[in-house]
Amino acid sequence: MSDAGPTRDVDRRDDADRPADADRRADIDRLVAAGRALVDAGLSPGSSGNLSLRSGGQLLMTGTGTSLGSLGGDDLAVLGADGRPIVDAEGQPLGPRPSKEVALHVALLAKNPAHRAVVHVHSPYAVALSCLEPWADHSAVPPLTPYSLMRLGQVPLLGFVAPGDPAMGDLITDSPHPFRAALLSNHGAVVGAESIEAAVSSAVELEEACRVTLLTQGGARRLIAPEQVRAITASWGTPWTDAAALS
Ligand SMILES: [Zn+2]
Repeated sequence: MSDAGPTRDVDRRDDADRPADADRRADIDRLVAAGRALVDAGLSPGSSGNLSLRSGGQLLMTGTGTSLGSLGGDDLAVLGADGRPIVDAEGQPLGPRPSKEVALHVALLAKNPAHRAVVHVHSPYAVALSCLEPWADHSAVPPLTPYSLMRLGQVPLLGFVAPGDPAMGDLITDSPHPFRAALLSNHGAVVGAESIEAAVSSAVELEEACRVTLLTQGGARRLIAPEQVRAITASWGTPWTDAAALS
């Protein structure tokens, strides 16, 4: 994304939360590979999308205007765990300015404390489904295949705010539904996971689930039965709060 994020307070604490150099290099390599994988999967049209990964007590995030297919270490902003930029002794930020969608990432990581990584994409089928009324309040993606239930569980549709508006984080924080992945109205998808590799894999799964949802739209669709939904999501530990499935 090309425009800069909102002005934010900086974190003037020292760099003590930085991991060992070898661990930091490994985290950068993971993000570079993740960006390439998303491009290869067709999930980053027009260089869109952004990534974040917890690295020690800090958060690495793709910089504003970076292309996911050609990331390097200099393209990653270094933030505090709360998303505020960290500055060096001269008051200069470490790395580039982060994506304007930083609030989205920080809020999703806070919602799922066991998660370490977030992927946000403007992938075509997720965007298309985000422009339609949701299948249900708790999930825009109906229970059509077991794989999305196993990997994602429910995928609610969140409201619309302009990209870069810090209220994007509030949409996640204020949602009454637990989720690992959500659609952002008329915008795209956001997915969190225990690792950046798992977040990429889940983003691919979500794009497929959105595609299948659209392909079956308007047909005599057969959904997975509520008791099966309950059994699958319970077995895989994924969220599903539909009253019918929980009864
Ligand atoms: Zn976006």
